[in-house]
Amino acid sequence: MHQQEEMKYDYIIAGSGCSGLSLLYRLLKDPILNNKSILIIDKTEKSANDRTWCYWESEKGLFNSIVTHEWKTLEFLTSDFTQRFDLEHYSYKMIKGIDFYNHILSFAKKFKNVTFKFENIKKIRTENNVAIVETENTKYSAEYVFNSTNLFNPTINAENSLLQHFEGWVIKTKKPTFNSKIGTLMDFRLNQENGDTFMYVLPTNSNEALIEYTLFSEKVLNKEKYKAELESYIRDYLKIEQYEITHKEFGIIPMSLTKFSRNPNSEERIINIGTAGGFTKASSGYTFQFVQKNSEKIISNLLKGKLPNPKRTFRDKMFEWYDRTVLEVMISEKMSGKEIFSIMFKKLSPERILAFLGNESKFLDDIKIMNSLPKIPFLIAGIKSLK
Ligand SMILES: Cc1cc2nc3c(=O)[nH]c(=O)nc-3n(C[C@H](O)[C@H](O)[C@H](O)COP(=O)(O)OP(=O)(O)OC[C@H]3O[C@@H](n4cnc5c(N)ncnc54)[C@H](O)[C@@H]3O)c2cc1C
Repeated sequence: MHQQEEMKYDYIIAGSGCSGLSLLYRLLKDPILNNKSILIIDKTEKSANDRTWCYWESEKGLFNSIVTHEWKTLEFLTSDFTQRFDLEHYSYKMIKGIDFYNHILSFAKKFKNVTFKFENIKKIRTENNVAIVETENTKYSAEYVFNSTNLFNPTINAENSLLQHFEGWVIKTKKPTFNSKIGTLMDFRLNQENGDTFMYVLPTNSNEALIEYTLFSEKVLNKEKYKAELESYIRDYLKIEQYEITHKEFGIIPMSLTKFSRNPNSEERIINIGTAGGFTKASSGYTFQFVQKNSEKIISNLLKGKLPNPKRTFRDKMFEWYDRTVLEVMISEKMSGKEIFSIMFKKLSPERILAFLGNESKFLDDIKIMNSLPKIPFLIAGIKSLK
């Protein structure tokens, strides 16, 4: 097919999902970088409420104005014990996908130097020290391409990975039913026959909550199973008979020991961001907060005239190692996720657990967390994860 003349930009953002738009927003908020010519390419327009992001942070955060709800009290439940805890430092927050997309897209519309294209990206490569993005009919070039498409993703196989799969429903009740001050982070009181299985219950007001049936396992379940489990949980545990489902979402997040590359093929003009860059925490699936921290670092490097990709610090490498170790313990079935999280929530301060899971803990706290867990399985997995 005949290719049109190459179009040149300062930056190309390949993929306008969570990480692509987070980076765009930060570029446009910056008084020095906001006049760069930026092209954003995605195969589809972001017009659906396709996901809900939950994350925790200690400060107000760049997206506070679009936070649907936040919780300062969380619950962790198993059949043996319930841990309800108040957060001092952190808030657990929820953002609806559609609010995030609309917020950033309407802000970006004000900038003439920003172009959106809806095309399928076929290839991203470097030629003569310039980054090139190829779609069906067009070739675009830029100083840097920030990629969140799955073009460079490693193959994920069952030996070194689990899948985090879930179906979430937002339900509305006629009568006030929920306490919107308390969010259930994990309710493990469910049948565990298909792998680690838990519910999130995140009430946004007294009549509305997001209920999410979540599993860590090798295989995705039959569609009917998620529905049946959600229905029985709402009926038997939440004791709700009448409700309306106002939103549904389904997701599969890879939890993998396979390494995702930050610069594919060591090409420094192509920077993988988001899940493609390895910013999905392998042992938990959380991504949003890690994407935000990485975008901040990219902006800081661009401002300093450095290569945008943040160098991995010693602490980054340690957190990666902890993460891989926890996942290795789960994949090798030495302990289940339910057992690991139960021990942590029984023995440790929740604030410390959130700091650890968010890569924000201090080294001494890491040692306390390690000491709380059984030595043998974690030692074996830890040695294996050094590779
Ligand atoms: C339903 C759901 C709920 C989630 N909930 C949470 C949560 O609560 N907290 C959390 O931290 N994480 C959550 N995650 C995980 C993670 O935060 C999201 O997957 C997040 O969207 C990842 O951001 P990303 O930018 O890497 O990918 P995406 O947001 O998926 O963006 C990638 C973009 O690239 C585009 N694209 C892909 N291939 C091509 C191509 N060849 N050409 C052009 N465009 C292309 C896609 O259309 C997409 O828009 C959730 C994931 C899902 C699916």
